[in-house]
Amino acid sequence: MDEALKFRALGFIGLGAMGKPMVIHLANKLPPESRIYVFDVVAQVVDDLCAQFPGRVLKGSSARDIAQKVETIITMVPEGSHVRSVYLDPQNGVCSIDISNKLLVDCSTIDTATSLAVKDHISRNFPTASFYDSPVSGGVVGAVKGTIAFFLGCAESDPNVKRLTYLASLMGKQVIPCGGPSLGLAAKLSNNYLSGIIAIACSEAMDMGMRSGLDPRTLAKVYAAGTAQNTICDRFNPVPHVYPEAPSSGGYKEGFKVQLMRKDFSLAVDMAKRVGSKNVLGEIGLATYDGASKDPRCRDLDSRVVYRYLGGQEDWQKKTNGS
Ligand code: NAD
Repeated sequence: MDEALKFRALGFIGLGAMGKPMVIHLANKLPPESRIYVFDVVAQVVDDLCAQFPGRVLKGSSARDIAQKVETIITMVPEGSHVRSVYLDPQNGVCSIDISNKLLVDCSTIDTATSLAVKDHISRNFPTASFYDSPVSGGVVGAVKGTIAFFLGCAESDPNVKRLTYLASLMGKQVIPCGGPSLGLAAKLSNNYLSGIIAIACSEAMDMGMRSGLDPRTLAKVYAAGTAQNTICDRFNPVPHVYPEAPSSGGYKEGFKVQLMRKDFSLAVDMAKRVGSKNVLGEIGLATYDGASKDPRCRDLDSRVVYRYLGGQEDWQKKTNGS
């Protein structure tokens, strides 16, 4: 409880698909005396959330206003440009007031360079304030269920790890300190690069096996038993009705949007270039997700819809008499 008492006034900026359910968990789980001040550029989402938790979730008028009211701020906005604006806007940004001693946690998935630039600005101007990158994994379903994982941009020995772990435990399940500033993002981007590449490879491998006459369920069993075993194939199989709970089996409707995969994949490829890491699959992977996210048959659907984009057979059950 001593950790909880430190969060009497908490700020949250960015109430979208991820941010809103995260605030709902905080509102349901923080001690009764805690207040959460929220801000989003879309006024309606702020009003809705405040109406859902009257007296508990309170409206802020800007990022600056939130910073004036609280000691700890979590941000969850789409891209690096939004993170810059939230923190560094000279009129309305968090850093436009004295933020000494405040704890700032950015959960957005953005490029490491922007995150480091924001951190650097804060360290130079407010040496006692602490800024952390802490991107999350687990998607909207995980945010609603409270099962997301946090990849924390600091060492395990960082003095704020206990506070950050407590806070994250209210919204998710796992917290992994990744070693230092921007390394939470580097971990998240390299993870999504790998997951994105596996989804393409799995789609192609399934397709070539199926066109050769194999039942996709047999193929999935073979991969699971062999050296190709991976989570995309086991639980997110891009071929519909191989794994009943995979987004593909529900028309690719629930899951991680292909446009978000395109964004994260592009950030990962840029990061690889910046750090001098050679990746032969980067450009082709990016072109694939770029094409899929612009294709009206795939846009807004789960990223494993890349199987459809690559021409995979979805109605295979009809051809095998539904057995
Ligand atoms: P979203 O677009 O649903 O929500 C973002 C919110 O930020 C919106 O409500 C928007 O109005 C608000 N916003 C934008 N600029 C702002 C500003 N300057 N000040 C205040 N509010 C502002 O996006 P999301 O799906 O919630 O994703 C947020 C971040 O989390 C992204 O970086 C995304 O990559 C990452 N992420 C998303 C998922 C997912 O499955 N959706 C999973 C893991 C990580």
